[in-house]
Amino acid sequence: MSDLNFSCTQCGKCCHDLRLPLTRLEAIRWLEQGGTVEILCEAIPWVDEPAASDAPAMHKRLRSFPALSGELPIRVIVVLAASFKGACPHLLPDMRCGNYDGRPHVCRIYPAEVNPFISVIPSHKQCPAEAWASPTPFIRANQVVDAQTQLHTTLLRHGDRHDVPFKAWACAQLNIQSASLSNEGFVSHQPSRDTLLDVLRQDMPDDDATVSPTSWTVVTNQATTLDALRMVGAKSLFATVLNQESPQYLGFLADTPATEPPACKGDGGS
Ligand code: SF4
Ligand code: SF4
Repeated sequence: MSDLNFSCTQCGKCCHDLRLPLTRLEAIRWLEQGGTVEILCEAIPWVDEPAASDAPAMHKRLRSFPALSGELPIRVIVVLAASFKGACPHLLPDMRCGNYDGRPHVCRIYPAEVNPFISVIPSHKQCPAEAWASPTPFIRANQVVDAQTQLHTTLLRHGDRHDVPFKAWACAQLNIQSASLSNEGFVSHQPSRDTLLDVLRQDMPDDDATVSPTSWTVVTNQATTLDALRMVGAKSLFATVLNQESPQYLGFLADTPATEPPACKGDGGS
């Protein structure tokens, strides 16, 4: 990672049209404040265990729980995401944060990356050129310089891993059993605020700690991916079938038409 300088100009661009990853406690707070939280799910085919020396794979392993899609072993990553179109509900007219002391970790670290294997690339960020022209050191020797940013990055990563068993249990309670293929997009589940708050506030029963649903459906908008999933016996679904508000397919790639009428090998989730 190259050395970078940075200083926030308070332009407010990073407070619009977002899905912000939250810890479970942050998601409860966001919902209690009247905000919207989506549950974003992605599935990674997981046929073999990676070597312990494969740090990126081990990172994914720690963020996910094991499940099955038909005959295919998978691991499921679940992200609780505050979502809003346009301005964040906490953004003030002068572009200051109206929730400054209670803002989520991810707001406190931007434009640093949560994922330790992704470098900060200014052109991928919302910040204007002036922000990167600052004399203030931001990254030196591959490390974010600011101690508070380091602290909140660590807390967010820790929460992400710590919440995994609870998320597996919560998905079962909410009948969430569909996910995108990792790196193609997300399946977004949007239970009502009251329903989600009720589940997030519950204590997970000890004897459910290792239980996760074993019948996940992998959703894709790519015809070749659908064919590949079928070949390995996965429970699969073409994204256009999710023609409703929840669950919703959020693809990174343009749809490629299914080669045949999409077979519905599952319920598509919640
Ligand atoms: S909580 Fe504050 S910092 Fe975070 S997106 Fe909203 S206005 Fe911006
Ligand atoms: S986009 Fe960058 S410069 Fe603008 S408010 Fe957000 S962090 Fe600051």
